[in-house]
Amino acid sequence: MTLGCDDCKHQIDGRFRMAGLPCPCECGGQIKAFVSPTSDAPGAWVTGGDVRRVMNALGVRGPDRSRWGHRNHYAPGERDAESMRRLVDAGLMRRDARDGVAHVYRAMPLAGELLGFGPTLMRRAFGGGS
Ligand SMILES: [Zn+2]
Ligand SMILES: [Zn+2]
Repeated sequence: MTLGCDDCKHQIDGRFRMAGLPCPCECGGQIKAFVSPTSDAPGAWVTGGDVRRVMNALGVRGPDRSRWGHRNHYAPGERDAESMRRLVDAGLMRRDARDGVAHVYRAMPLAGELLGFGPTLMRRAFGGGS
């Protein structure tokens, strides 16, 4: 994963969740995260809004980690279409049609890793066959 500004193109060291923050050099741009999975997905520059959707899918909210990862689904609306495309290209989410609901998306383990999930959270969110 690489963090960079979409305006001045300057690269930044930091964590996935910094996507969406203003660029530190005050160029007025926003930080995005380039995520390129090991699978055959092409990779994508992920925005702050995209990261928030992944966090929402995984119930990552607030500092209390005991409440994270108890869910893993996101039902996008029409306005989410571009974001979902980037998240799939980045290997962070996939469309899940197994239950016949065509537009439910699930976060991939890569998303948990980038959000700093430890083994317990990884198991809770992605283990157990779902
Ligand atoms: Zn910048
Ligand atoms: Zn800059």
